[in-house]
Amino acid sequence: MILRARTVVTMDSPPIENGAVVISGNRIVDIGRFPEISGRHSGQELVDLAEQALLPGLINAHCHLDYTCLRGTIPPQKWFTDWIRAINAEKAKLGRDDYLASIAKGFAEAKRFGTTTVANLTAFPELIPHVNTPIRTWWFSELIDVRDPSRTDELLDLAIHAMKRARDSGGGIGLAPHALFTASANLYRRCEEVGQRENILLTTHLAEAREEMSMFHDASGPLYEFLKGIGRDMSDCGDETPFAWFTRIAGAPAGRGLPTEWIVAHLNELAESDFELLEGSTRKFHVAHSPRSHDYFAHSRFPLERLRSLGFNICLGTDSLASNDDLSLFAEMRALQRSEPALSPKEILEMVTVNAARALGKPQALGRIRANYFADLFAIPCSGAADVLDVFEEVLAFDRPVDWMMVAGKT
Ligand SMILES: [Zn+2]
Repeated sequence: MILRARTVVTMDSPPIENGAVVISGNRIVDIGRFPEISGRHSGQELVDLAEQALLPGLINAHCHLDYTCLRGTIPPQKWFTDWIRAINAEKAKLGRDDYLASIAKGFAEAKRFGTTTVANLTAFPELIPHVNTPIRTWWFSELIDVRDPSRTDELLDLAIHAMKRARDSGGGIGLAPHALFTASANLYRRCEEVGQRENILLTTHLAEAREEMSMFHDASGPLYEFLKGIGRDMSDCGDETPFAWFTRIAGAPAGRGLPTEWIVAHLNELAESDFELLEGSTRKFHVAHSPRSHDYFAHSRFPLERLRSLGFNICLGTDSLASNDDLSLFAEMRALQRSEPALSPKEILEMVTVNAARALGKPQALGRIRANYFADLFAIPCSGAADVLDVFEEVLAFDRPVDWMMVAGKT
Protein backbone atom coordinates (compact mmCIF):
# COMPACT_ATOMS: atom_id res chain seq x y z
CA MET A 1 0.00 0.00 0.00
CA ILE A 2 1.20 3.51 -0.82
CA LEU A 3 0.11 6.43 1.38
CA ARG A 4 0.44 9.81 -0.31
CA ALA A 5 0.17 13.08 1.61
CA ARG A 6 0.80 16.74 0.98
CA THR A 7 3.57 16.67 3.60
CA VAL A 8 5.29 13.72 5.27
CA VAL A 9 6.85 14.67 8.60
CA THR A 10 9.49 11.97 9.05
CA MET A 11 11.29 13.41 12.13
CA ASP A 12 14.52 12.50 10.29
CA SER A 13 14.89 15.13 7.59
CA PRO A 14 12.86 18.22 6.64
CA PRO A 15 9.23 17.30 5.90
CA ILE A 16 8.77 15.84 2.40
CA GLU A 17 6.37 17.82 0.21
CA ASN A 18 4.10 15.64 -1.95
CA GLY A 19 5.49 12.68 -0.03
CA ALA A 20 4.63 9.00 0.03
CA VAL A 21 5.14 6.08 2.38
CA VAL A 22 4.98 2.42 1.37
CA ILE A 23 3.50 -0.01 3.89
CA SER A 24 3.86 -3.78 3.84
CA GLY A 25 2.30 -5.76 6.68
CA ASN A 26 2.96 -3.86 9.91
CA ARG A 27 6.06 -2.05 8.65
CA ILE A 28 7.12 0.92 6.59
CA VAL A 29 9.23 -0.29 3.66
CA ASP A 30 9.98 2.86 1.67
CA ILE A 31 9.56 6.62 1.86
CA GLY A 32 10.22 9.54 -0.47
CA ARG A 33 8.62 11.98 -2.89
CA PHE A 34 5.43 10.64 -4.45
CA PRO A 35 6.61 10.67 -8.09
CA GLU A 36 9.66 8.51 -7.27
CA ILE A 37 7.80 6.22 -4.89
CA SER A 38 4.96 5.57 -7.35
CA GLY A 39 7.58 4.74 -9.98
CA ARG A 40 9.44 2.30 -7.72
CA HIS A 41 6.26 0.62 -6.40
CA SER A 42 3.89 0.66 -9.37
CA GLY A 43 0.76 -1.46 -9.10
CA GLN A 44 0.40 -0.98 -5.33
CA GLU A 45 -2.89 0.15 -3.81
CA LEU A 46 -2.84 3.96 -3.37
CA VAL A 47 -4.41 5.78 -0.43
CA ASP A 48 -4.32 9.51 -1.11
CA LEU A 49 -4.49 11.49 2.13
CA ALA A 50 -4.74 14.65 -0.01
CA GLU A 51 -4.02 17.99 1.72
CA GLN A 52 -2.87 16.42 4.97
CA ALA A 53 0.36 16.06 6.90
CA LEU A 54 1.35 12.47 7.68
CA LEU A 55 3.20 11.97 10.94
CA PRO A 56 4.59 9.18 13.12
CA GLY A 57 2.04 8.20 15.79
CA LEU A 58 2.36 10.04 19.09
CA ILE A 59 3.70 8.25 22.17
CA ASN A 60 2.36 8.99 25.65
CA ALA A 61 5.26 8.21 27.98
CA HIS A 62 3.26 8.35 31.20
CA CYS A 63 -0.45 7.80 31.78
CA HIS A 64 -2.87 6.00 34.07
CA LEU A 65 -5.89 4.93 32.00
CA ASP A 66 -7.37 3.37 35.18
CA TYR A 67 -8.51 6.82 36.19
CA THR A 68 -10.07 8.09 32.95
CA CYS A 69 -13.42 8.04 34.76
CA LEU A 70 -12.13 10.49 37.39
CA ARG A 71 -12.01 13.43 34.97
CA GLY A 72 -13.24 16.56 36.72
CA THR A 73 -13.95 14.85 40.04
CA ILE A 74 -11.11 16.34 42.12
CA PRO A 75 -10.62 20.12 42.12
CA PRO A 76 -7.05 21.35 42.70
CA GLN A 77 -6.17 21.05 46.40
CA LYS A 78 -3.95 23.21 48.55
CA TRP A 79 -1.78 20.23 49.45
CA PHE A 80 -0.64 17.32 47.28
CA THR A 81 -1.42 15.11 50.28
CA ASP A 82 -5.07 16.23 50.18
CA TRP A 83 -5.23 15.22 46.52
CA ILE A 84 -3.92 11.75 47.50
CA ARG A 85 -6.66 11.52 50.15
CA ALA A 86 -9.25 12.65 47.57
CA ILE A 87 -8.22 10.13 44.90
CA ASN A 88 -8.17 7.36 47.50
CA ALA A 89 -11.75 8.28 48.42
CA GLU A 90 -12.80 8.21 44.74
CA LYS A 91 -11.07 4.88 44.16
CA ALA A 92 -12.93 3.36 47.08
CA LYS A 93 -16.18 3.88 45.12
CA LEU A 94 -14.96 1.94 42.07
CA GLY A 95 -14.99 -1.77 41.25
CA ARG A 96 -13.50 -4.08 38.65
CA ASP A 97 -16.03 -3.27 35.92
CA ASP A 98 -15.66 0.47 36.48
CA TYR A 99 -11.93 0.17 35.97
CA LEU A 100 -12.27 -1.99 32.86
CA ALA A 101 -14.68 0.59 31.38
CA SER A 102 -12.37 3.42 32.40
CA ILE A 103 -9.34 1.80 30.74
CA ALA A 104 -11.33 1.14 27.53
CA LYS A 105 -12.50 4.77 27.45
CA GLY A 106 -8.94 5.93 27.98
CA PHE A 107 -7.61 3.88 25.08
CA ALA A 108 -10.36 5.22 22.79
CA GLU A 109 -9.65 8.80 23.81
CA ALA A 110 -5.87 8.52 23.44
CA LYS A 111 -6.40 7.07 19.98
CA ARG A 112 -8.73 9.90 18.97
CA PHE A 113 -5.87 12.31 19.61
CA GLY A 114 -3.35 10.58 17.36
CA THR A 115 -1.66 8.56 20.10
CA THR A 116 -0.55 5.19 18.76
CA THR A 117 1.54 4.08 21.76
CA VAL A 118 1.05 4.45 25.49
CA ALA A 119 3.18 3.66 28.51
CA ASN A 120 0.29 2.91 30.83
CA LEU A 121 0.65 2.38 34.56
CA THR A 122 -2.09 0.26 36.06
CA ALA A 123 -2.72 -0.33 39.72
CA PHE A 124 -4.71 -3.43 38.77
CA PRO A 125 -2.41 -5.79 36.86
CA GLU A 126 -4.94 -8.58 37.37
CA LEU A 127 -7.16 -6.75 34.84
CA ILE A 128 -4.53 -6.71 32.09
CA PRO A 129 -5.41 -10.12 30.58
CA HIS A 130 -9.02 -8.88 30.21
CA VAL A 131 -8.21 -5.77 28.18
CA ASN A 132 -8.03 -5.47 24.40
CA THR A 133 -5.54 -2.78 23.47
CA PRO A 134 -6.48 -0.83 20.32
CA ILE A 135 -3.08 0.89 20.28
CA ARG A 136 0.48 -0.22 21.06
CA THR A 137 0.78 -0.55 24.81
CA TRP A 138 3.46 -0.97 27.40
CA TRP A 139 1.74 -2.18 30.55
CA PHE A 140 3.45 -1.14 33.76
CA SER A 141 2.24 -2.70 36.98
CA GLU A 142 2.07 0.03 39.58
CA LEU A 143 3.14 -1.43 42.91
CA ILE A 144 2.51 -0.07 46.40
CA ASP A 145 3.51 -1.88 49.58
CA VAL A 146 3.30 0.98 52.09
CA ARG A 147 0.46 -0.59 54.04
CA ASP A 148 1.97 -4.07 54.08
CA PRO A 149 5.69 -4.36 53.28
CA SER A 150 5.54 -8.08 54.07
CA ARG A 151 3.58 -8.61 50.81
CA THR A 152 6.25 -7.18 48.48
CA ASP A 153 7.29 -10.46 46.87
CA GLU A 154 3.72 -11.65 46.51
CA LEU A 155 2.71 -8.37 44.81
CA LEU A 156 5.56 -8.65 42.35
CA ASP A 157 4.82 -12.29 41.52
CA LEU A 158 1.14 -11.51 40.90
CA ALA A 159 2.02 -8.56 38.67
CA ILE A 160 4.50 -10.50 36.55
CA HIS A 161 2.08 -13.41 36.22
CA ALA A 162 -0.76 -11.11 35.10
CA MET A 163 1.37 -9.14 32.63
CA LYS A 164 2.64 -12.32 31.02
CA ARG A 165 -0.98 -13.25 30.35
CA ALA A 166 -1.62 -9.88 28.60
CA ARG A 167 -3.17 -10.11 25.14
CA ASP A 168 -0.83 -9.07 22.36
CA SER A 169 -0.45 -5.32 22.84
CA GLY A 170 2.31 -4.72 20.29
CA GLY A 171 4.38 -3.21 23.09
CA GLY A 172 5.78 -4.70 26.25
CA ILE A 173 5.60 -4.87 30.00
CA GLY A 174 7.27 -3.15 32.90
CA LEU A 175 7.25 -2.54 36.62
CA ALA A 176 6.34 0.70 38.36
CA PRO A 177 7.08 0.91 42.07
CA HIS A 178 4.72 3.84 42.62
CA ALA A 179 6.86 6.40 44.48
CA LEU A 180 9.43 6.56 47.27
CA PHE A 181 6.72 7.40 49.77
CA THR A 182 4.47 4.42 48.91
CA ALA A 183 6.94 1.74 47.79
CA SER A 184 9.60 0.33 50.10
CA ALA A 185 13.31 0.31 49.33
CA ASN A 186 12.98 -3.47 49.19
CA LEU A 187 10.28 -3.17 46.52
CA TYR A 188 12.50 -0.88 44.41
CA ARG A 189 15.40 -3.31 44.71
CA ARG A 190 13.24 -6.30 43.85
CA CYS A 191 11.84 -4.46 40.79
CA GLU A 192 15.41 -3.76 39.68
CA GLU A 193 16.34 -7.43 40.04
CA VAL A 194 13.27 -8.66 38.20
CA GLY A 195 13.62 -5.92 35.58
CA GLN A 196 17.15 -7.01 34.77
CA ARG A 197 16.35 -10.71 34.88
CA GLU A 198 13.26 -10.41 32.66
CA ASN A 199 14.65 -7.53 30.56
CA ILE A 200 11.60 -5.35 31.16
CA LEU A 201 11.24 -1.61 31.65
CA LEU A 202 11.01 0.26 34.94
CA THR A 203 9.28 3.48 35.80
CA THR A 204 8.46 5.43 38.94
CA HIS A 205 7.18 8.80 40.21
CA LEU A 206 10.01 10.79 41.74
CA ALA A 207 10.50 14.21 43.35
CA GLU A 208 7.08 15.33 42.19
CA ALA A 209 5.87 17.61 44.98
CA ARG A 210 7.30 19.99 47.57
CA GLU A 211 5.75 17.82 50.27
CA GLU A 212 7.80 14.86 49.05
CA MET A 213 10.95 16.94 49.43
CA SER A 214 10.02 18.07 52.96
CA MET A 215 9.09 14.51 53.90
CA PHE A 216 12.42 12.99 52.90
CA HIS A 217 14.76 15.91 53.54
CA ASP A 218 13.21 17.40 56.69
CA ALA A 219 10.96 14.64 58.11
CA SER A 220 8.10 17.10 58.21
CA GLY A 221 5.08 18.39 56.32
CA PRO A 222 1.64 17.09 55.38
CA LEU A 223 2.84 14.06 53.40
CA TYR A 224 5.17 13.03 56.24
CA GLU A 225 2.37 13.32 58.81
CA PHE A 226 -0.14 11.49 56.61
CA LEU A 227 2.13 8.52 55.93
CA LYS A 228 3.36 8.36 59.52
CA GLY A 229 -0.31 8.24 60.48
CA ILE A 230 -0.98 5.15 58.36
CA GLY A 231 1.99 3.33 59.90
CA ARG A 232 4.72 3.79 57.27
CA ASP A 233 8.25 3.22 58.58
CA MET A 234 9.59 6.80 58.41
CA SER A 235 13.21 5.94 59.22
CA ASP A 236 14.25 6.88 55.66
CA CYS A 237 13.19 10.49 56.26
CA GLY A 238 15.07 13.48 57.66
CA ASP A 239 18.33 13.23 55.79
CA GLU A 240 18.41 13.02 52.00
CA THR A 241 16.46 14.51 49.10
CA PRO A 242 14.08 12.15 47.27
CA PHE A 243 16.45 12.00 44.31
CA ALA A 244 19.50 11.19 46.45
CA TRP A 245 17.54 8.47 48.23
CA PHE A 246 16.41 7.03 44.90
CA THR A 247 20.00 6.81 43.67
CA ARG A 248 20.86 4.95 46.87
CA ILE A 249 18.18 2.31 46.54
CA ALA A 250 17.63 1.86 42.80
CA GLY A 251 19.87 0.80 40.01
CA ALA A 252 23.14 1.80 41.49
CA PRO A 253 25.28 -1.19 42.39
CA ALA A 254 28.71 -0.03 43.53
CA GLY A 255 30.56 1.81 40.81
CA ARG A 256 27.71 1.78 38.31
CA GLY A 257 26.48 5.28 38.97
CA LEU A 258 22.90 6.35 38.50
CA PRO A 259 20.07 4.09 37.41
CA THR A 260 19.71 4.21 33.66
CA GLU A 261 16.92 2.00 32.50
CA TRP A 262 14.25 3.91 34.37
CA ILE A 263 11.62 6.23 32.97
CA VAL A 264 11.42 8.73 35.83
CA ALA A 265 8.19 10.71 36.00
CA HIS A 266 8.18 14.31 37.29
CA LEU A 267 11.54 15.39 38.86
CA ASN A 268 10.18 18.80 39.78
CA GLU A 269 11.92 18.97 43.14
CA LEU A 270 15.67 18.81 42.72
CA ALA A 271 18.17 20.42 45.10
CA GLU A 272 21.54 21.77 43.95
CA SER A 273 23.12 18.69 45.50
CA ASP A 274 20.90 16.58 43.22
CA PHE A 275 22.18 18.45 40.19
CA GLU A 276 25.72 17.64 41.32
CA LEU A 277 24.77 13.95 41.28
CA LEU A 278 23.15 14.37 37.86
CA GLU A 279 26.13 16.27 36.45
CA GLY A 280 28.57 13.67 37.69
CA SER A 281 26.79 10.86 35.93
CA THR A 282 27.72 9.59 32.50
CA ARG A 283 24.63 7.39 32.47
CA LYS A 284 21.38 9.14 31.64
CA PHE A 285 17.85 7.91 32.35
CA HIS A 286 14.60 9.07 30.74
CA VAL A 287 12.32 11.73 32.22
CA ALA A 288 8.56 11.88 31.66
CA HIS A 289 7.16 15.36 32.19
CA SER A 290 3.38 15.98 32.33
CA PRO A 291 2.93 19.72 31.69
CA ARG A 292 -0.80 20.04 32.39
CA SER A 293 -0.82 17.80 35.47
CA HIS A 294 2.20 19.82 36.65
CA ASP A 295 0.16 23.04 36.26
CA TYR A 296 -2.87 21.51 37.99
CA PHE A 297 -0.75 20.80 41.07
CA ALA A 298 1.20 24.09 40.78
CA HIS A 299 4.41 22.16 41.37
CA SER A 300 7.81 23.86 41.40
CA ARG A 301 9.10 24.72 37.94
CA PHE A 302 10.24 21.63 36.02
CA PRO A 303 13.99 22.12 35.33
CA LEU A 304 13.65 21.15 31.70
CA GLU A 305 16.58 23.08 30.27
CA ARG A 306 19.01 21.98 32.97
CA LEU A 307 18.04 18.32 32.56
CA ARG A 308 18.18 18.56 28.79
CA SER A 309 21.55 20.26 28.79
CA LEU A 310 22.86 17.43 30.99
CA GLY A 311 21.74 14.94 28.35
CA PHE A 312 18.62 13.49 29.97
CA ASN A 313 15.99 12.29 27.53
CA ILE A 314 12.79 14.30 28.06
CA CYS A 315 9.42 12.82 27.05
CA LEU A 316 5.86 13.94 27.66
CA GLY A 317 2.91 12.20 29.26
CA THR A 318 -0.62 13.13 30.17
CA ASP A 319 -0.58 11.57 33.65
CA SER A 320 -4.10 10.61 34.76
CA LEU A 321 -7.39 12.42 34.27
CA ALA A 322 -7.59 12.82 38.04
CA SER A 323 -5.21 15.77 37.43
CA ASN A 324 -5.74 16.58 33.75
CA ASP A 325 -8.60 17.39 31.35
CA ASP A 326 -8.03 14.92 28.54
CA LEU A 327 -5.53 12.55 26.97
CA SER A 328 -4.45 14.84 24.11
CA LEU A 329 -0.70 15.03 23.61
CA PHE A 330 -1.31 18.02 21.33
CA ALA A 331 -2.67 19.92 24.36
CA GLU A 332 0.31 18.65 26.36
CA MET A 333 2.71 20.01 23.73
CA ARG A 334 0.95 23.39 23.74
CA ALA A 335 1.13 23.58 27.53
CA LEU A 336 4.87 22.91 27.35
CA GLN A 337 5.25 25.54 24.65
CA ARG A 338 3.60 28.11 26.93
CA SER A 339 5.99 27.42 29.79
CA GLU A 340 9.10 26.89 27.61
CA PRO A 341 8.78 29.39 24.73
CA ALA A 342 12.45 28.93 23.83
CA LEU A 343 11.82 25.36 22.64
CA SER A 344 11.09 24.96 18.95
CA PRO A 345 7.87 23.18 17.92
CA LYS A 346 10.05 20.44 16.38
CA GLU A 347 11.90 19.89 19.66
CA ILE A 348 8.55 19.61 21.43
CA LEU A 349 7.22 17.12 18.86
CA GLU A 350 10.38 15.03 19.38
CA MET A 351 9.36 14.56 23.02
CA VAL A 352 6.24 12.61 21.98
CA THR A 353 7.92 10.72 19.12
CA VAL A 354 11.65 10.00 18.94
CA ASN A 355 12.45 10.72 22.60
CA ALA A 356 9.58 8.57 23.87
CA ALA A 357 10.59 5.76 21.50
CA ARG A 358 14.06 5.81 23.07
CA ALA A 359 12.56 5.69 26.55
CA LEU A 360 10.62 2.56 25.60
CA GLY A 361 13.77 0.95 24.20
CA LYS A 362 12.48 1.13 20.61
CA PRO A 363 14.50 3.89 18.91
CA GLN A 364 14.90 1.63 15.87
CA ALA A 365 11.18 0.91 15.45
CA LEU A 366 9.01 3.78 16.73
CA GLY A 367 8.82 7.56 16.64
CA ARG A 368 9.90 8.19 13.03
CA ILE A 369 8.69 7.54 9.51
CA ARG A 370 11.59 5.50 8.21
CA ALA A 371 12.04 2.19 6.37
CA ASN A 372 11.71 -0.86 8.67
CA TYR A 373 9.91 1.14 11.37
CA PHE A 374 6.44 0.14 12.54
CA ALA A 375 3.63 1.57 10.42
CA ASP A 376 2.17 3.63 13.30
CA LEU A 377 1.00 6.84 11.65
CA PHE A 378 -1.66 9.52 11.66
CA ALA A 379 -2.69 12.37 9.39
CA ILE A 380 -4.03 15.84 10.13
CA PRO A 381 -5.11 18.67 7.83
CA CYS A 382 -2.25 20.87 6.70
CA SER A 383 -2.50 24.31 5.12
CA GLY A 384 0.50 23.63 2.94
CA ALA A 385 2.70 26.04 4.84
CA ALA A 386 5.72 26.71 2.69
CA ASP A 387 8.04 27.04 5.63
CA VAL A 388 9.22 23.86 7.36
CA LEU A 389 8.93 25.54 10.76
CA ASP A 390 5.29 26.39 10.09
CA VAL A 391 4.45 22.71 9.56
CA PHE A 392 5.61 21.89 13.10
CA GLU A 393 3.78 24.93 14.44
CA GLU A 394 0.61 23.73 12.72
CA VAL A 395 0.97 20.26 14.23
CA LEU A 396 1.19 21.72 17.74
CA ALA A 397 -1.86 23.91 17.13
CA PHE A 398 -4.03 20.96 16.08
CA ASP A 399 -6.89 20.62 18.57
CA ARG A 400 -9.51 18.28 17.14
CA PRO A 401 -9.87 14.52 17.00
CA VAL A 402 -7.66 12.88 14.36
CA ASP A 403 -9.68 11.25 11.62
CA TRP A 404 -7.05 9.03 9.96
CA MET A 405 -4.61 6.80 11.75
CA MET A 406 -2.82 3.50 11.41
CA VAL A 407 -1.36 1.20 14.06
CA ALA A 408 0.90 -1.67 12.98
CA GLY A 409 -0.21 -1.22 9.35
CA LYS A 410 -3.94 -1.36 10.17
CA THR A 411 -6.18 1.68 9.70
ZN1 LIG B 1 1.61 9.34 37.25
